[in-house]
Amino acid sequence: MRNDAERYQRLKSEDPQLYRLLEGQIHAESTTLKMIPSENYVRFAVLEATGSILTNKYCEGYPGARYYEGNEIMDEIESLAIERAKSLFGAEHANVQPYSGSPANQAVFRALCRPGDKVMGMPVPQGGHLTHGWGVSFSGSDYTQIPYGPDPETGILDYDEIREIARRERPRMIIVGGTSYPRVFDYHVFDEIAREIDAYLVADIAHINGLIVAGAHPDPVPFCDVVSSTAHKMLRGPRAGFLLSKIEDRYHEKYHAKSRFNLAKRIDRAVFPALQGGPHMNVIAAMAVAFREAATEEFRQYGHQVVKNCRRLAEGLLERGHELASGGTDNHLLVMDLRKSQFTGKEVAKALADAGIICNFNMVPGDHRKPAVTSGVRMGTPALTTMGMKEAEMDRIAGWIDVVCRSLPDCEETAQRVRNEVAELCLQYEVPGIGRWVEQSEVVQGTF
Ligand SMILES: *Cc1c(COP(=O)(O)O)cnc(C)c1O
Repeated sequence: MRNDAERYQRLKSEDPQLYRLLEGQIHAESTTLKMIPSENYVRFAVLEATGSILTNKYCEGYPGARYYEGNEIMDEIESLAIERAKSLFGAEHANVQPYSGSPANQAVFRALCRPGDKVMGMPVPQGGHLTHGWGVSFSGSDYTQIPYGPDPETGILDYDEIREIARRERPRMIIVGGTSYPRVFDYHVFDEIAREIDAYLVADIAHINGLIVAGAHPDPVPFCDVVSSTAHKMLRGPRAGFLLSKIEDRYHEKYHAKSRFNLAKRIDRAVFPALQGGPHMNVIAAMAVAFREAATEEFRQYGHQVVKNCRRLAEGLLERGHELASGGTDNHLLVMDLRKSQFTGKEVAKALADAGIICNFNMVPGDHRKPAVTSGVRMGTPALTTMGMKEAEMDRIAGWIDVVCRSLPDCEETAQRVRNEVAELCLQYEVPGIGRWVEQSEVVQGTF
């Protein structure tokens, strides 16, 4: 039975080649454990908005000030997304037009800094994002990264050291956020440091947006000049970015005396017309749908369950003798620390993928291996929790990860066995946005 396949009938008859690829991915996502911490499953309502005719319309500009006619409804949709974003995060201003998280960050640099300015951010190997000043990105080539990161010994941020670096370097902007930091950020301390040196404070909450709205992670909005985020990842919206900010600029006189625009307006102008053209209205509509969902009690419980699940997974691995970066987790992700292992992060991640446990290799603090192999494996619980998994399933998964790791390097047979068990577990759930696509019997017969 493929009841949910009906949704793609037109695609199937019109472009069977593309349809086969889509179906392959649907099978994969229905039968493996999605443990990449930046991924999730969006619900049907989000997919419907993303796939709607709103993709047809051009509406460069902002609500009430467009460069095309016929945008009355678009104005309402964008205003709805903006109002929901502001209310969800308690922000003074929101811009929902960035095409994704990276363009959102580019707009932040454009609004707050000038080329060549010093910007404090974590380098990619230490868990920062490319757009936090890493060399191969615009943020590293056009601006000067002042690096900080977790202590190589403890894997935890050392705030005294961060304060020292900030005092010495006096950057224009400090970016707080990361892609593989398993602990919470103390925005209060970052704010103190930023104020002391008159630096802008920006939180990039791309990974932890859902934890913040659920109250399962400290809230950066009161402390930061700008907060940058994706709408996907934990928030379960479409692939897109958005920006929250204060309206007034606390350093306007000092840094932007010649500009007549306040902070909110400079953010808007940095997104459009400086960096982007027409907004993706289908995506903005889907974002509004996701913001509505994220404001529910159900989502609050989801956020807390993500953390409970991740803690349980961490305990399961620690009990079985595995080491974790920073010794554990406070959020939605953990990083296995393989510095003492003979196997690299790349080898372990590949073996786990063969077993249907999809995660990624990642540098750990104090890593002695190259970024192409690493000594870490990063994994998280947002998508599993969306499926409905709880602590009991985390125990089973920790057990599977353990046996796959122990079976290296000749792990083929073990991986195959675990893969079947993983598929069996996954098929007990109705996957959001996918439904029940693959039947248990197909897995048993190995037809997928
Ligand atoms: C994912 C992520 C981004 C970028 O998002 P994209 O949508 O992939 O461009 C930016 N910052 C952080 C911390 C992220 O995790």
